[in-house]
Amino acid sequence: MRMLTNCKISVAKTAGFCFGVDRAVKLVYNKLNDYDNLVTLGPIIHNSHVVSDLETKGVRVVSDTSQVKDGQPVVIRSHGVGRDVYSELEKKNAVIIDATCPFVERIHKLAYDHSSKGYTVLIAGDAGHPEVAGIKGHCVGEAYVFSDVADLEEIAPELKDKKLAVVSQTTFNVSVWNECEKRIRELFPEAKIFNTVCNATADRQREAAELAAKSDYMIIVGGRNSSNTLKLKSVCEKFCKCILVESAEELKSMDFSDAKFIGISAGASTPAYIIKEVQLTMSEIVKNEEDFNFEEALEQSFTKIYTGARVTGYIESVNNSEVTVNINGTKHTGIISASELSDDPSLKPEDVVKPGDEIEAVVLKISDQDGIITMSKKKVDAMKGFEEILKAKEDGTVLSGSVTNVVKGGVLVSCNGVRVFIPASQATARRDDKLEDLLKKTVEFKIIDVNEGRQRAVGSIREVIKEARAAAQAKFFETAESGAEMEGTVKSILDYGVFVDLGGVDGLVRKPDLAWGRIKHPSDVVSIGDKIVVTIKDVDKETGKVSLVYKKEADNPWNIFLANYHTDDVVKVKVVSLTSFGAFAQIINGIDGLIHISQLANKRVGSVGEILKVGDEVDVKIIDIDTENKRISLSMRALLPEEDEAEDVAEEETVEEEAVEETAEEAPAEETVEAPVEETVEAPAEEAAEAPEEPAAADDETDETSE
Ligand code: SF4
Repeated sequence: MRMLTNCKISVAKTAGFCFGVDRAVKLVYNKLNDYDNLVTLGPIIHNSHVVSDLETKGVRVVSDTSQVKDGQPVVIRSHGVGRDVYSELEKKNAVIIDATCPFVERIHKLAYDHSSKGYTVLIAGDAGHPEVAGIKGHCVGEAYVFSDVADLEEIAPELKDKKLAVVSQTTFNVSVWNECEKRIRELFPEAKIFNTVCNATADRQREAAELAAKSDYMIIVGGRNSSNTLKLKSVCEKFCKCILVESAEELKSMDFSDAKFIGISAGASTPAYIIKEVQLTMSEIVKNEEDFNFEEALEQSFTKIYTGARVTGYIESVNNSEVTVNINGTKHTGIISASELSDDPSLKPEDVVKPGDEIEAVVLKISDQDGIITMSKKKVDAMKGFEEILKAKEDGTVLSGSVTNVVKGGVLVSCNGVRVFIPASQATARRDDKLEDLLKKTVEFKIIDVNEGRQRAVGSIREVIKEARAAAQAKFFETAESGAEMEGTVKSILDYGVFVDLGGVDGLVRKPDLAWGRIKHPSDVVSIGDKIVVTIKDVDKETGKVSLVYKKEADNPWNIFLANYHTDDVVKVKVVSLTSFGAFAQIINGIDGLIHISQLANKRVGSVGEILKVGDEVDVKIIDIDTENKRISLSMRALLPEEDEAEDVAEEETVEEEAVEETAEEAPAEETVEAPVEETVEAPAEEAAEAPEEPAAADDETDETSE
């Protein structure tokens, strides 16, 4: 082995398994548990190491459908096959496990669709390659294969006057394709041209060419029978010496003594672990060299992968059970199963990520056999989430999360991949609120305790509610003024009034301030949960007490009365109560007037009950309206004939003189009798005695007791 001096080595980022090959190999390994007689139609990839490993696990390679037994499971590799192959397998009732690369499937469709419409299909590729045979097998009409411009010129005369559709083998040499495409446009301007060279191939070839341009040697790792590996070599050979190796072992006998810079790339069928072996072998070759920074070069080329490492990468593919990740700075593909993507079991992989997304994951396991790396995104999310939780505890940040479970003593909230326990006493604003009502809801909370060792966190929703309430109260008392109208929600109903939540501050509407008319109970007017507009009657900023009025001035029956009734009007009234000095009668809802005993008839009346009873409807004349004291005097007598009245008055005067002592106490003179509006009749003094003071602007405990 020759030692290298001051030689730098760089590994192409695109080296190794492409998406299609990676998918096919994993599919076979995944099916090992399902079948013990699995066969692949041709080697699954052009790599003897992988093929022999599969053989040891019972997977045989068959060269054609004749070797497939009735009902046998058979894998179609990423190259794809023609339509006739599918038919033959179906006739044998074979279980078809189709690993055809989706990019190849697209070419099959183009070939089939165009040849079905009468196009002759031209395929740029290697006529002997199985992928090209598969594409031809999807043409229902004429198809030609050409490998370069010279081939094309040769078949051109036969193609004259034909409708042409052109596709390419996915691993076709990009520069040769460009030349061919140019010539086709010159020869057949009407031809429909589809550049189906796979990006993975194009990218690998371009990067290899760039690397080769600055290298003394390019080491191409891959199977000697692999078409894309050979093409990679031919691309690089234009720039420097190229060595194709199938394994690292071959390097040990080689001489690189004149090299200052060596590039490494690998074909699409080369497993990551073989590239790694080549890397390590090169490392051994240069290990003892003085001043040689190969280790550093490798460090720069590869991200170290080990169990527990946090890596970044791009999502390559997504299916129902897992996603594949192209890990940055490595040749590895990682797999994240659906259960390791998110801690929400209801989410499918496609709900969490899509191809092209950059993600971070932690390595759970590395398979020695196939180099497959099993990873977890949800663990990284949880790690990051816990870091955020620690920070949130430090600075008091309000977090949000979804309530996933109601457990004994509280609820669990999922927040950035971390499950935070919220004790029942910290979960709701009021102790009697049901925890179940929080399930599946997004809640805001603060972290009140963290156990770093056990990665446990305890939160409080109540803290956030309290702070929000305090902020709302501060804002309310800053701006609230008597007379202002506000919307609120009826929070509780008591005998003496209702409490209204004004958005963090509770105010009391006393029963007399609820309605103008008589009400038996506040619940006659409002219900819990009603949104109502109230007027602030009084605000005590020191004690935090707020009293409110619900009844509206526009509905004030006294104003309605004044607007519609006048002295001397004759109205129909309903007797609502009898007293010794007269009868109270309702004129309109909320307004009663007094028919003094002396105004009941044009004769002396001994008792009010002789003339009226409660519920009677009678015509009366409004004889006086005392606006200052809100009293109304009514008279039935005023509607009686004059002569009778005179007679009776004379009689009444005589009687009154006789009974003056008795009536002076029982029936006050008419002008002094109060004819109160209904609100006064309702004995407000009594209400005031019953109702406690308005509550101080609520804290939590007040809330609880107020209900
Ligand atoms: S090279 Fe491209 S088309 Fe071919 S298998 Fe790989 S990803 Fe698919």
